[in-house]
Amino acid sequence: MWPEEAADIEQSGRSLTELRAIGPFTASFIARWLKDRPDVPVPPPIRDGFITYAYARAVVAAHPEWAAAAKSDQQMHTDETDGSATIDEMAEAGRDLGRERIAITDHSRTLRITNGMDEARLAAQGERIDAVNARGAAPWVLKGIEMDVTPEGAGDMEPAALARLDLVLGAFHSKLRLRDDQTERYFRALANPDIQVLAHPRGRVYNFRPGLSCDWERVARRASETGTVLEIDAYPDRQDLDVERLRIVAAEGAWISIGTDAHSPGELAFLEIGIAAAILGGVPRERVLNLLSNLALAERVGLVRATKGANTNERGTTTMAGGKRERIDTTPGKSGGSRFVRREARGRFSTDQTSAGRSVAQDKRVKAKNTAPKGMKDRGD
Ligand SMILES: [Zn+2]
Repeated sequence: MWPEEAADIEQSGRSLTELRAIGPFTASFIARWLKDRPDVPVPPPIRDGFITYAYARAVVAAHPEWAAAAKSDQQMHTDETDGSATIDEMAEAGRDLGRERIAITDHSRTLRITNGMDEARLAAQGERIDAVNARGAAPWVLKGIEMDVTPEGAGDMEPAALARLDLVLGAFHSKLRLRDDQTERYFRALANPDIQVLAHPRGRVYNFRPGLSCDWERVARRASETGTVLEIDAYPDRQDLDVERLRIVAAEGAWISIGTDAHSPGELAFLEIGIAAAILGGVPRERVLNLLSNLALAERVGLVRATKGANTNERGTTTMAGGKRERIDTTPGKSGGSRFVRREARGRFSTDQTSAGRSVAQDKRVKAKNTAPKGMKDRGD
C-alpha cells in the first residue's frame, strides 16, 4: 500500500521512514534486504495475484490514455452503514483526488453486521445526496447500493427502491468458502434484473479467503450477454477481479466497473490499483463504465435494465446530468440512446458470443488456484 517503491526512496537518498507504518527498526531491515536481496518465496494461492499500490501507480502513469478512468469511483461506503465518514467527507476527499463522480454504495438490509439499510433509509440517503448535488460542487454523487445477493441470485431490497438508484451493485457475502464450482450461482446473480454491477465477484480477501471458483470464461460471456458489468474492486486486500481473470473478461467482451470499496476517505486513493488491473488485463477502454459521461452511464444502466427485463415505471428514468429528470429510450436498437449504446444494443447484447480462444489448461489452472482451504471463518464484508 506504499505509493512508492522502497528501493526508489532509498536510491534518492530519502529515509524509508517516510513510508507508512515504517519506523527506524523496520527501515533497517528493509535497507538490509535492498542491499542483499533475500529469496522471495512463491506466494501461496491465498496471497497470489495481488499487485502493489506503487506498481499500480507506475502502470497507470505509463498509460496516460487511461487517466480519465480516475475521474469516477464506483463503489464506496459511508457512516450510513459500515463506513467511517459522511457523504460530504467522502465527496471532499474524492474531489481532492480529482474524482468528478463518485457512487455511494452502502450495504443493504440483510447484512446486519454492517448496519445494512432498509428502503426507508436508502430513500433518506438519496435525499441527502440530492442536497449535496444541488450545491453543485464536484464530484457528482451517484445514488447507489451494494445489495446483498443470495446464492440463489436474489436481492434483499424492493425492486422499486432499486429502480430509483443511479447504479445498483450486487454482491455475494455468504457461502464464500464453498469449494465446488459456482458457475450456476454466478449465472443466477447475473440474471437478476435489478443488478447492473456484480461487485467483488470472487469474494476473495488477501491472506484470508481465496474466493469462489467458477468457469470464468462462461461467466464472463454470460455477463456480456446480460449486460451485467463485472467489478474491479480496487481495495488493496481484495483486487477482485484480478488481472488473470480480467484477461478472460476482456476476451469475452464483458463490461467493467472500477471502485475502491473505500470505507474511509483515505482508502479512496487506491482506485489506481483497479485501473492498473484493467490495463494489465487488456480490458478495452470502450467497455469501462468509469469512462462514460454521466449521461452515457445513465443510458448504459437503462440499457442493462431493459436487457434484463426490469420493467417498472421507474426504469430508464434517471436523475443524473445535473439533477434533471429525463426519459431515455432504453429499447435496444431504438433511437434515443447514444451512438455507442445503440451499437452495443445490436452487438453485445444479442445472442451469440464466441469464445476467444482460452485454453482448457488455463481454465483448469484458474479452477485449481481458486480452491478454498478448510477451517476458516466467514465474515460479513
Ligand atoms: Zn461487499
